[in-house]
Amino acid sequence: MSIRSHLEAMDDVVVVEERTDPHLGVTPHLNAHPESPVMLENMAGGGRLVANLWSTRSRIASALRTDVPGLTRLIAGAMASPKPFKWVKDADLLDNQVDKVDLGKLPIPTFYKSDGGPYITAGVFIAEWEGVRNLSFHRVMVTGPRMATVRVVPRHLYALHRRAKAKGKDLPVAIAIGSCPPVLIAAACSVGLGQDELEIASAIRTAAFGKPVEVVKLPGSGLAAPATAEIVLEGRLTGKEADEGPFVDITGTIDPVRQQPVLEVDRIYHRTKPILHAILPGGYEHYMLMGLPKEPAILKSVMGVVPEVRGVRLTEGGCCWLHAVVSIKAQKQGDAKNAILAAFAGHASLKRVIVVDDDIDPFDDRQVEWALATRFQAHDDMLVIEGARGSSLDPSASGTTSKLGLDATIPMDADRGLFKRLM
Ligand code: MN
Repeated sequence: MSIRSHLEAMDDVVVVEERTDPHLGVTPHLNAHPESPVMLENMAGGGRLVANLWSTRSRIASALRTDVPGLTRLIAGAMASPKPFKWVKDADLLDNQVDKVDLGKLPIPTFYKSDGGPYITAGVFIAEWEGVRNLSFHRVMVTGPRMATVRVVPRHLYALHRRAKAKGKDLPVAIAIGSCPPVLIAAACSVGLGQDELEIASAIRTAAFGKPVEVVKLPGSGLAAPATAEIVLEGRLTGKEADEGPFVDITGTIDPVRQQPVLEVDRIYHRTKPILHAILPGGYEHYMLMGLPKEPAILKSVMGVVPEVRGVRLTEGGCCWLHAVVSIKAQKQGDAKNAILAAFAGHASLKRVIVVDDDIDPFDDRQVEWALATRFQAHDDMLVIEGARGSSLDPSASGTTSKLGLDATIPMDADRGLFKRLM
């Protein structure tokens, strides 16, 4: 389903008709409506932009025909059993092809004063090298009409790019903007290199709609692109590097300048009157699309040590990246401690996890704090792991980080009646 169809089905879209400057003009509109999709119809320089589109769990859940607790399991199921996608001959995406590329004609926003330039933030990279396909999110800082610098953390795209460079070649890439939720979520899942995220996307769509994800072959590179996309940039990650950043990241703090690969864009495909999807850095949609797809990995890891898990949540207060709550049905003394260790193993950036019993709703912050208030004693229930690898986005971490596990479950040998909430 295209984002156009999703937008039509939503009844709380904020439509902004006033002329909006892509340079610093977008962010105030998005901050004014953090949980509603905002459609900026009249971008200065032309084009239109949508953001805050997938800014809440319930919106993503309903787009995938499930509920909030069901979302983690739906994605986990898709990760465990990928499904083939379907090649289609044509798509609205191929209606317009631009060979004389000028990225300045797209309404690409500069979100914050400190940002190094205009940024494409909702771009899903599709790359294929020697039979291995990979989908992943990377921010793209535009530096010229067809030039950009891409933040490529050392994961899968990095590995494919390195393999291409070793043979003296550029890595062909397609960057899909405005894809459907299954593609967005699959691109942010943590799976092994070699596992095709398009097949995970297809499994998500099959679980929700009973249909595979549809994919078109791009005429220029032959790369696969999701047929739902609004805009696809086709180009190459070159062997050159240039400054990337600064960039306000998910934590709302500054990610500094680094030398990163240079992208050259050769071609653009787009629907007629395309909608540029943008993700506000540090906004709720960033939390959702970056954090939520990590929850299934934590769930899987915890289920390896505790069979019954009510739910896993990366909390909004922890930017859906650094802090988690795990709700379990403990069977043996020490299960909660094992769940803490497993949660850390499931998401390397995790810094703090609170484990609660299954009578506590992990999605309710007050219930979680209540569990800490009535079921937790620091001298017994707190686990600190020093010198571990954490997130580079946490300014308080210096190289390594201290991880904190809090066991807020009722001790197995306790009189459980004393711990029950009776009001
Ligand atoms: Mn991958």
